Amino acid sequence: MRRNPAELALGIDLGGTKILTAVATSDGEVLSRDYTETSAEKGYKAVIESIVASANRALVQAGISVGKLAAVGIGAAGLSSPEAGVLFTSPHLPGWHDVPLRDAIEKKLGKKTFLTNDANAAALGELYFGAARGARNFIYVTISTGIGGGIVIDGKIYAGALGTAGEVGHMTIDSDGPLCNCGNKGCWETLASGTALAREARHKVKEGVRTSILKYADSDINKVTAEVVHRAAVDGDALARELITRTGYYVGVGLANLVNIFNPELIVIGGGLSNIGDMLLEPAFKVAGERAFRQSFEAVRFARAELGRDSGVLGAVAFALEEMKKKDASESKRRS
Ligand SMILES: [Zn+2]
Repeated sequence: MRRNPAELALGIDLGGTKILTAVATSDGEVLSRDYTETSAEKGYKAVIESIVASANRALVQAGISVGKLAAVGIGAAGLSSPEAGVLFTSPHLPGWHDVPLRDAIEKKLGKKTFLTNDANAAALGELYFGAARGARNFIYVTISTGIGGGIVIDGKIYAGALGTAGEVGHMTIDSDGPLCNCGNKGCWETLASGTALAREARHKVKEGVRTSILKYADSDINKVTAEVVHRAAVDGDALARELITRTGYYVGVGLANLVNIFNPELIVIGGGLSNIGDMLLEPAFKVAGERAFRQSFEAVRFARAELGRDSGVLGAVAFALEEMKKKDASESKRRS
């Protein structure tokens, strides 16, 4: 018999294109999942309605009422303040500025709600339930259309002064590099993301470099994605392989910076582009090893993320339960 029944929480992973809502236990068991489109262009009020509808479907699917939840956690793509519960701005949610996301959800669902960044949530997900279990000092990096990150120091997310820390995708790698969504030039994600890989492939195709990449994109240059480049590379296309190696090089440059600055014991790598695997990551680790301090590099272990698309919602659940515990502890201290 279990002495402590697992607590339940609702996790919300708010991305630029999709929202994933899930009911999960404090042991990391996912009881239900609901996917819906973000449709950010409709404005934040409409998106909040979609989140609430998705949350209600997830609750029905799990067969539980909102009253059974300990708390609700949101991991949102963008800069946010967990303390204020406000999403300041997001390159993935155009037009969203200073949105009081936490309180809006809390009011609609009638349940204590906590807000954090989506990559910080994913880092917590991997820390509690995935590849980083037991780690004290680790960095989570997600490489997909952009690059996100979460920094864990002494077992806790490093949030910074405002709560916006961990934006590893926007460290400058090439000060004259491609323009980033954030307005800066040559950010890590402009050189080492899936978007960067696809952009470089389209550029080379336009230049007339001999390649079969277009064959994998219905002969339409606008359909050249990172996935298309990967498929061509697997089939032996030399340009596709070279482009992936080049992207891996830039992944490695950024990893070397993280190793030198944080001396982490572990770097967990997730996100769609990392599914390319060795073709991308081998050159990345090689470059990181060449550029980082030897001692720091020897101390770090690299691991692939284990939770896939659940990392964000499970992290949001872990975050909500952790914050709820802190809140209860401070309230009982105040009473005594
Ligand atoms: Zn940037």
